[in-house]
Amino acid sequence: MQPEHTAEFCFYGELNDFLSPSQRQRTNAYRFSGHPGIKDPIEVFGVPHTEVELIIVNGQSVGFDYQLQNDDCVAVYPIFGRPDISPEIKLREKPLNNPRFIMDVNLGKLAKHMRLLGFDCLYRNDYSDAEVVNIAVNEQRIVLTRDRRLLYAKQIVHGYWVRAVKVANQVDEVLRRFELHNAIQPFARCLVCNGVLSAVAKADILEQLEPKTRRYYEQFYQCTTCQRIYWDGSHMENMRQRYGGLLAPQQTDESRHL
Ligand SMILES: [Zn+2]
Repeated sequence: MQPEHTAEFCFYGELNDFLSPSQRQRTNAYRFSGHPGIKDPIEVFGVPHTEVELIIVNGQSVGFDYQLQNDDCVAVYPIFGRPDISPEIKLREKPLNNPRFIMDVNLGKLAKHMRLLGFDCLYRNDYSDAEVVNIAVNEQRIVLTRDRRLLYAKQIVHGYWVRAVKVANQVDEVLRRFELHNAIQPFARCLVCNGVLSAVAKADILEQLEPKTRRYYEQFYQCTTCQRIYWDGSHMENMRQRYGGLLAPQQTDESRHL
């Protein structure tokens, strides 16, 4: 049976990343029967609901519970580049404060880099998709993934499809998308296990330090979960070179030796 209705869809800004090349930057017809929820056609075009910030149907802001009607003209906007509309229907509650993340199996490097910047990032290389979804829901975590299909899961409220392949670009993307530049906090998270770091007296860990580290560094941090020790050494120097001014050098006497 032929679909009986037609609606027009237009996707803006970075939502075009999800469309096939012939669908980008233009109005696309969508044929349908009945009155599907608006999320369904948006995902048929390949756009996960977590990427959508604002939906305008025939000039009015609508929620995900809107049911598509014949001849509807739908404009779908991402977080950035959306117009100011009032009244606006929020598609989800306001962004999470102190955002916490869960990465899919492809984003191990990103997890490490984000931990270095102080963000709470769960990652295991053997998480199943179902585990990622469950943990995200139970712990109110934002799903970061390279697999957009994972974001089609209805239970996921906050998520982001990471476009970049190189980790430094991925970090830039995530910081920008979630406006995290002011929340960076070096020496807050363990790179390896995501545990919380706390300052530790040099005297208490002296035995565990290599001679050079013992000589040149005074300020140390220890993971409260796995006991690994961190200091402002080459790891941080690499990160400073990658992320420039995001990570100010520590103001200690020893930092002059770096
Ligand atoms: Zn640890």
